[in-house]
Amino acid sequence: MAKILVLGAGISGHTAALFIRRKLKKEHEVIMVSPNSNYQWVPSNIWVGLGLMKPEQVKFKLEPVYKKQGIVYKQAIALSVHPEGYGNEQQPYVRIKHVSEDKIDQEEEVEYDFLINATGPKLNFAATEGLGPDNFTNSVCTYDHAEHSWKNLEASFRKMKAGEKQTFLVGTGHPLATCQGAAFEYILNIAFEITKRNLNHLADICWISNEYELGDFGMGGAYVKRGGYITPTKIFTESIFKEYGIRWIKRAGVKKVDGNTAYYETLDGEEEQINFDFAMLIPGFAGVGMKAFNKSGEDITSDVFAANGLMKVDADYSGKPYEEWKASDWPSIYQSPVYENVYASGIAFAPPHTISKPMKNKNGMAINPTAPRTGMPSGVIGKIVAENIVHRIKTGKNEHPHMASMSKMGAACIVSAGYGIRHGQAAVMTVYPIVPDYDKYPKWGRNINYTVGEVGLAGHWMKLFMHYMFLYKAKAKFLWWLIPE
Ligand SMILES: Cc1cc2nc3c(=O)[nH]c(=O)nc-3n(C[C@H](O)[C@H](O)[C@H](O)COP(=O)(O)OP(=O)(O)OC[C@H]3O[C@@H](n4cnc5c(N)ncnc54)[C@H](O)[C@@H]3O)c2cc1C
Repeated sequence: MAKILVLGAGISGHTAALFIRRKLKKEHEVIMVSPNSNYQWVPSNIWVGLGLMKPEQVKFKLEPVYKKQGIVYKQAIALSVHPEGYGNEQQPYVRIKHVSEDKIDQEEEVEYDFLINATGPKLNFAATEGLGPDNFTNSVCTYDHAEHSWKNLEASFRKMKAGEKQTFLVGTGHPLATCQGAAFEYILNIAFEITKRNLNHLADICWISNEYELGDFGMGGAYVKRGGYITPTKIFTESIFKEYGIRWIKRAGVKKVDGNTAYYETLDGEEEQINFDFAMLIPGFAGVGMKAFNKSGEDITSDVFAANGLMKVDADYSGKPYEEWKASDWPSIYQSPVYENVYASGIAFAPPHTISKPMKNKNGMAINPTAPRTGMPSGVIGKIVAENIVHRIKTGKNEHPHMASMSKMGAACIVSAGYGIRHGQAAVMTVYPIVPDYDKYPKWGRNINYTVGEVGLAGHWMKLFMHYMFLYKAKAKFLWWLIPE
């Protein structure tokens, strides 16, 4: 009998737990440790942040699903990993702290034979003074944040209806933030809602970002096939912003927010500031802060985790110069290099380097997007990690027939650009591969036939369809496993 412990019931960990449970006999135990008793379909938080969906529409209780599937659920936070056990007890375990009302603050050691760390990102608001919903800016990263953001956005809309001008600032709230795509969706939808209310004359809508050029999105930009032409995402994004009446500030590292002012440095080294009435700025991401200890109780966190707290896997972390990195530096099986029964999936694994070119201004501030961490790869990685663990348990061999390198994997992004069955819009982009491979595709870095972008109403229908389809799948309903990641 094997014990598989999954940490984090997000897109990646939940996918992994469901697949392992489906493929392994009941004699094996699957345990999920995750602090939020709800699953949330994060991409639809954008619509919660616009008052177009309620939090109830993007979340559901995990416990009944896990009970039905035969997965043990512990509503808790993982604190530390002990991959060698402790002392003579050589059974690996994870120390957790319960957060459910009936067991609040109780600690427990949960043993495992295989561990999947899928704890996602820590939303590191603290890395930028004054950032986040407890301070001066909004967030749409969780359904709670998004609900709070909508209250503030609605208040701005009310002021505009009363004739008051409003400035909306949306983008990245840290010089090294990623997840530009979510902010991009949010700003387009804000502009769409303002137009719908005939309030454009009272709105100043501004994008602020650490990207060198618009459309970088943390993947160094892309060339997309569009209507028979090859267009850089810079032009694609700028033309959408023009159409939506959005101005932009690029190459900006936001370092502080105070009241209604955001302070930033540019890549030229200038100190600038911008006033706003409403701001939604994405924080920097880090690992969730788990520690690791060996059997003597010595701290081995730096062996297991990278400096940013994300877990090291089968990637090249040698820190070679940006110009020398290769597609093959990216991991394909997400196995820890130090403990063969430990895996990290989704955002929890440490990327070997940024895809966008690292840049610094004359004051030494690094300003560039870090690697993109989107949902589709997170789901795919969760699935292949699950399949490999199942294979290992069934065969007893340390083999990994399933691989999912981001340099060999495509991704489809549907960026909502306005909600509505008849007048909605979305920008649909596919890239293949996510991490460009200039050895294989010397001209564009990617296969141009699979790297496309279009904007239209059909994209909105697809986005809405995906909302229902992925929630159906996450609830493990009839034939859920046939729905792709
Ligand atoms: C607003 C928004 C919109 C987005 N839209 C899109 C989109 O349209 N398309 C797309 O592809 N991607 C999108 N993304 C990105 C996508 O949501 C992420 O890539 C995806 O959620 C990552 O999955 P994950 O499982 O790695 O992490 P998460 O989904 O963050 O899950 C991590 C889980 O771990 C749990 N956890 C945290 N700490 C601990 C701990 N110590 N112990 C145990 N559990 C812990 C968390 O509670 C959570 O349940 C969007 C992101 C945002 C914020």
